[in-house]
Amino acid sequence: MTQQNPVMRLCISCRKTYDRNNLLKITNDHKHGIMFFKGMGRSAYICKSKKCYSDSKIKKKLQKALKIFLKPEFIEIFEKEITSFNDYPNKGI
Ligand SMILES: [Zn+2]
Repeated sequence: MTQQNPVMRLCISCRKTYDRNNLLKITNDHKHGIMFFKGMGRSAYICKSKKCYSDSKIKKKLQKALKIFLKPEFIEIFEKEITSFNDYPNKGI
């Protein structure tokens, strides 16, 4: 078989599509609630552009995309996740 094509997903902030590997995935898991990079259920993707993840409306956009109410603590966890995500080697855009 030939190489797999990258799976493209839409960033909910800038509405551009990117390779899924370059996006932060947030899932509203059926059992565990909000999860990053894993879980089953409704998912939203955010690209690594600072403009997108530090957007003041990102929480609202996520709530809309995931159809869920996000707790105030969510943003703290989210920022930690996106920071460590950006630190991963070989994943920079
Ligand atoms: Zn984006």
